[in-house]
Amino acid sequence: MRPLLCLTREELGEALVSLGKSRYVGDQIADWVYRKGVYDYSRMTNLSLAYREELPSLFPIRLPKVFARQDAKDGTVKLLLEMEDGSKVETVLMRYDYGNAVCVSSEVGCSMGCAFCASGLLKKERGLTAGEMVGQVLCINEILKETRERTTHVVVMGTGEPFDNYDEVMRFIRILNDPKCLGLGARHITVSTAGLVPGILKYGKEGLQVNLAISLHAPTQAKREKLMPVARFFPLDKLMEAVKQYISDSGRRVTFEYIMLSGMNDTPQDAKELSELLRGILCYVNLIPYNPVKEKPFKRSPRRDVDAFRDYLVKHGINVTVRKEFGTGIDAACGQLRAKEHGL
Ligand code: SAH
Repeated sequence: MRPLLCLTREELGEALVSLGKSRYVGDQIADWVYRKGVYDYSRMTNLSLAYREELPSLFPIRLPKVFARQDAKDGTVKLLLEMEDGSKVETVLMRYDYGNAVCVSSEVGCSMGCAFCASGLLKKERGLTAGEMVGQVLCINEILKETRERTTHVVVMGTGEPFDNYDEVMRFIRILNDPKCLGLGARHITVSTAGLVPGILKYGKEGLQVNLAISLHAPTQAKREKLMPVARFFPLDKLMEAVKQYISDSGRRVTFEYIMLSGMNDTPQDAKELSELLRGILCYVNLIPYNPVKEKPFKRSPRRDVDAFRDYLVKHGINVTVRKEFGTGIDAACGQLRAKEHGL
């Protein structure tokens, strides 16, 4: 018995064949579940009655439960989802002009301990299975169904460190990317890492056209270490080497995420050091307005400092954008809603 949402179509086909059944049934099930949003075998009318009775115990379909929901005026929806074991994770729908992006959590809690982040207020309990990540997207698709829409983009930027849960995240990506499952183009899928070097190297060799984002947040080792304890294990020079290797293996541009923290990493000196660090590297920089977290001492940079920082990078030939903000008025910062639910 394996949860259906944890299986790639290939794995499902093989499992069916090993049970003496037809591989094709796997494609039919995938069509019902991923394309039609039908999660009940008894409603899969093109399957034989015998199959409809047998399948629930062989490959149970388990969707997370919506435990809490917050809606912002701009259409952003944040869900707190409850998994079968009672674990709760956050998932966010963001509506862009170009499509519907879902921010997926990869772990229950997070052990990276970044100084500015609300997710790390609760330590990692376990990694999520591929099925639990797929379930997050399906829950958002249920909401989008009301307007005859579906998820078009996925960012693995919710709670957790995806490369700390590498195999399940990759299985999730294959299910997203399979044209007969969720059918998202690889270029519409992005994984964000705090900078786990072995994961970056492996990801570059997968042969998929998926995107990689690196949470950089500081231009020097000394500063980065203060904000991100993970930098002690994977120092900046090793991280940059891995990024170059990734670019050469995958041929893909990377995105560097850089949260703008007032007086901490947003000065002209920081802009200069960052442009020197990134010179000649095939990349974008995404400057992120900080979502203040009440337990943390950081303040967001004033708009004029963000603009000056951006202008300096532009002048020095670096592709840079300032991230659009979503979800004003709800607990939009990573991990905020979940932390609140735990009484923090
Ligand atoms: N562990 C992964 C993915 C989860 S964090 C990573 O570190 O990339 C996703 C992104 O959100 C990271 O760039 C993270 O630094 C950023 N982030 C965390 N807390 C934030 C906050 N309060 N405001 C804005 N961005 C935040």
